[in-house]
Amino acid sequence: MARILTGIQSSGVPHLGNLLGAIIPAIRLSKDPKNESLFFIADMHSLTSIKDPKILKENTYATAAAWIAFGFNSESNIFYRQSDIPEVTELMWYLNCISPFPMLANAHSFKDKSNKLHNVNTGLFTYPILMAADILLYDANIVPVGKDQKQHLEMTRDIARFFNNIYGDTLIIPEPKIDERIMTIPGTNGQKMSKSYNNFINIFLPDKKLHKQIMSIETDSKGVEESKDPSTCNVFKIYELMATESDVVQMKKNYREGNYGYGHAKQTLFELITSKYSLERIRFNELMENQNIIEDKLLKGAKKARSIAQKVLRRIRTKVGY
Ligand code: ATP
Ligand code: MG
Repeated sequence: MARILTGIQSSGVPHLGNLLGAIIPAIRLSKDPKNESLFFIADMHSLTSIKDPKILKENTYATAAAWIAFGFNSESNIFYRQSDIPEVTELMWYLNCISPFPMLANAHSFKDKSNKLHNVNTGLFTYPILMAADILLYDANIVPVGKDQKQHLEMTRDIARFFNNIYGDTLIIPEPKIDERIMTIPGTNGQKMSKSYNNFINIFLPDKKLHKQIMSIETDSKGVEESKDPSTCNVFKIYELMATESDVVQMKKNYREGNYGYGHAKQTLFELITSKYSLERIRFNELMENQNIIEDKLLKGAKKARSIAQKVLRRIRTKVGY
């Protein structure tokens, strides 16, 4: 049996990139009875960017609602909130003390975020260590992530190896599972779609607002009649990940033939999202109206998660000398 672990920050409502890059593939894996899946909401990671307690809480529910709306079974798996398991911060400290500073200083994601954000705090810098603790605390074997997390996963593996070299075999070295077909999904401005870059598509918005987000996808300034290159267009790049093969072929043809404007392509993308995910959008909004259902599921999950975490942490404390 493989233990699979995935986390999503509650730094906003999960966007199309999170859904296609992490949530949908992880739910698919969780349906294999040979696997045991742990899915958690990384609400402590979100504190690096969200300082409003109300928003932090609301985002936690929105993240949980997205998992459930997309069919994650919280009864047969383990579904919890990071902040309900304080053991993770204790492990983070042990890992801090064996992780070399230059490894963190060279992290792409930190460099990328620190260039874009106004407030660069230490939490943002030590983020990969908390992530390593998230994974190693549960003896996870497989971690499905988007491409943007590849380097963080490599750090987790290195940190586990450093620990095992010092203290003897203690931590399980996790394997990343990255769907190479799902590239890093671009946001409305062409950069990585991210909750914190304000370039996301939130499929759970009401039609009108969702339409507006899709219409805001940046394109070049070619006129309607001109032939266009689908491979360099953000609208096409997103469409291609969700549409059927024959629809993708048709869209490519439309681009190349001309007399097909970016507005047409955006409208087609909007219709695809609203029809493909119509049930999930309804379920999400129902759950957000009934947050007590979400809270119950998370508390039940925390009990299961904590009992694993406490056992593993006991093993680690003994090795460290406490
Ligand atoms: P933040 O901006 O706060 O870092 P985020 O949008 O990057 O938020 P995370 O919570 O950091 O989202 O990532 C959750 C999961 O979603 C990870 O597995 C990550 O690899 C995946 N993911 C995030 N953005 C994308 C994207 N644009 N394309 C594909 N996968 C993504
Ligand atoms: Mg991120």
